[in-house]
Amino acid sequence: MAALHHPQSDTLWAYAAGTLDEASSVLVASHLALCPECRADVARMEAMGGEMLEDAGTVSISSSLDDIMARLDGPVFVKAQSQPIKTPANDTILPRPLRDYVGSSVDTVKWHGLTSGVEYFDLPVRAKGRRARLLKIAPGTRVPSHGHGGEEMTMVLAGGYTDEFGSYARGDVETADVTQVHQPVADAGEPCICLTVTRGALIPSAIFSVINRFFPRLSA
Ligand SMILES: [Zn+2]
Repeated sequence: MAALHHPQSDTLWAYAAGTLDEASSVLVASHLALCPECRADVARMEAMGGEMLEDAGTVSISSSLDDIMARLDGPVFVKAQSQPIKTPANDTILPRPLRDYVGSSVDTVKWHGLTSGVEYFDLPVRAKGRRARLLKIAPGTRVPSHGHGGEEMTMVLAGGYTDEFGSYARGDVETADVTQVHQPVADAGEPCICLTVTRGALIPSAIFSVINRFFPRLSA
């Protein structure tokens, strides 16, 4: 699956409908703060949801679904490639939705060591089975290769990184599913600070390949 720079459309739909879990919602809200395109998409989704609620008393469920699918085929989700946004000074790195969980500045975050060159801070979210974590990765650091026990969304806040699927700068979101193994490498120059939301455990790539080989249904 090709890497994406925006949250996937089903994630935006769930956010617009208010059904997305808290951890994922923090990431999406942070992305929306930096991405006018997705803000416009979510506004349309919310408007469509309101229209459908109003129409619910006069149209059948099947025709509503046809209507939804017809609109999904439209231009709503067609986006131009995002342009890299210049990383701001530290005190403006955190989008407002993140500050409720992290504080007003990355300079005051209480980082913990994870691996060589990688520090983390777990956000106090209440989403069951989900973890929202800030990562601070030293320039040029290779994050250990890993697969995923569930979906992983990563949003870059400062600096950038590159993996097997693309390069990501401030505001970009990568969604990795259970079939993907990747090894992000932080760009040179400044630390890469990103927000990750994961469901399920991260799995080292060597173990992940064995699981794929002998238990393909587990990762299908
Ligand atoms: Zn976007």
